[in-house]
Amino acid sequence: MRTIFSYLKAYRLRMALGLTIKIVGTVMDLILPLILAYILDDVIPTKDIGKIIILGVVMVLCSFCGVFGNIIANRMASGVARGVTTDLRHDLFEKIENLSSTQIDEISVPSLISRMTNDTYNIHQFVGMMQRIGVRAPILLVGGIIVTLTLDPVLTLVLLATLPLIILTVYLITKSGLPLYSKVQGAVDDMVRTIRENITGIRVIKALSKTEYEKERFQKVNKKVIDYELTVGKKMARSNPLISLFLNLGLVGVIIVGAYRVYNGNTEAGKIVAFMSFFTIILNAMVTMTRIFVMYYRAAASGARITYIMKLPNQLEKEEASYGHRDYHIEFKNVSFAYNTENVLQNINFKLKKGRSLGIIGATGSGKTTIINLLMRYYDTTSGDIYVSGRNIKSYDLNELRQKFGVVFQNDVLFSDTIAENIKFGRETTDNEMRKAAKSSQASEFINSQIDKYETQIAARGQNLSGGQRQRLLIARALINNPEILVLDDASSALDYKTDANLRMQLNERYSSITSIIVSQRISSIKNCDLILVIDEGQIVAMGNHQTLVKTSEIYKEIYELQMGGVDNE
Ligand code: ADP
Repeated sequence: MRTIFSYLKAYRLRMALGLTIKIVGTVMDLILPLILAYILDDVIPTKDIGKIIILGVVMVLCSFCGVFGNIIANRMASGVARGVTTDLRHDLFEKIENLSSTQIDEISVPSLISRMTNDTYNIHQFVGMMQRIGVRAPILLVGGIIVTLTLDPVLTLVLLATLPLIILTVYLITKSGLPLYSKVQGAVDDMVRTIRENITGIRVIKALSKTEYEKERFQKVNKKVIDYELTVGKKMARSNPLISLFLNLGLVGVIIVGAYRVYNGNTEAGKIVAFMSFFTIILNAMVTMTRIFVMYYRAAASGARITYIMKLPNQLEKEEASYGHRDYHIEFKNVSFAYNTENVLQNINFKLKKGRSLGIIGATGSGKTTIINLLMRYYDTTSGDIYVSGRNIKSYDLNELRQKFGVVFQNDVLFSDTIAENIKFGRETTDNEMRKAAKSSQASEFINSQIDKYETQIAARGQNLSGGQRQRLLIARALINNPEILVLDDASSALDYKTDANLRMQLNERYSSITSIIVSQRISSIKNCDLILVIDEGQIVAMGNHQTLVKTSEIYKEIYELQMGGVDNE
């Protein structure tokens, strides 16, 4: 929680002002019953109407001060809570953006989302509540007890007899209910995970007619959340009626003992009335304070989950520059990598000159995308080094490194915006640059056939376009601003042979200095590459250009014959 509290520092002046107003308002609430007692016992018997009216006006003023003080202070408290939460979310978001993919895999995306939303919300609630009642309740409790002692020490004993009962009730109920809150949080995490999996995989789920199965799965996690919530709710709900019972029993006690004492001339009726007000104030303050503890417990749990992320080390730190062969644009040197424990890549070695093209071919899961992930430093190698322009990628600033790339990943999406915005993607660029990219990616023909051309609106995820059109726009997006290295991860699979061939020709013509990497399972997409890596189970099993590979690699030849029937059909 200390990290969380440090966020309050920026708001300390506003908080101090708000709390001062709060204290004044609270003191007003305490004064009111005292004035009432004074009117009843000391003024009414004298029949001094003028004095009664003046005191009445004072009471009204006091209660106005109390009410408005509270409203203003509560508003200021909300402002501070909002500010703190905004700052916290901002920093958390920035931290998450800088986590390495390994760290994100470890924590899991749903858990990050719920830390960003649920947990920051708990902190928001706590910070607001602390200011609203965190000061008020203790003042009412302590102030109330002091005033009651001065009013009538004997009646205070009745109060003190009731207090332990209430404290015990609240303590026992809260103690059994609190651990359930963590369970609720866990169940909510599970539910978010299921929803996420369903929404991202919705097409596959529908295609495989898994809808019913998924519905049941969701109902199960949803029921778990409801069950836990119900149990917590039931447990906690017991406390209020019990507290009311004790409160009323106490009040009856005060009236009986009080009446007895008034009858014996030990005290006055007005004091009993004031005493009853204080009695209620004190017990309510007690209950409120226990609510603060519940809130604190929840906020502390959330605070710990947030702080955990904030304190994660920066894995992708810059390192001292080290150098490989300066003649090559991309170089992998003895690279091995494991996402978890099992090696996904083993001993990958290759070099590629500037302006050349690299094809990577292999079965699904053989490690092709992982090579790209390492090259762009989404993950760091387990062993071995990668050099870009002769310099170890660990010595680049991450932004500097990633700016060298134009990429189309397998699961890239278009947004519901214009074609132009989808290609430019928020980057500084010119319309000429955009047109050049669209022309090279074979997108300009269909764009120009639209009525609004580049201003044509695209539906969410590009639903109103064909697969090939979507791919061409994504490739145009990757080509903007002349990247040094173009990466197409299975991106040309939706393009027909002719478009694919034209694309490669255009790249040669318009982007001749670009180094390109094409990841594919189709020989036709990579056969013209200067260098082809054949990957199997994380290893390079053959390397060379198409002509040599057909002669030297059994696997390559097999794939080639399977896909092309052994003839060049382009
Ligand atoms: P390809 O691109 O050739 O289909 P990948 O490089 O995506 O293959 O995957 C190689 C292997 O690594 C597969 O066994 C895959 O299950 C595993 N893998 C990929 N991404 C992750 C990840 N984020 N965490 C753990 N394992 C992964």
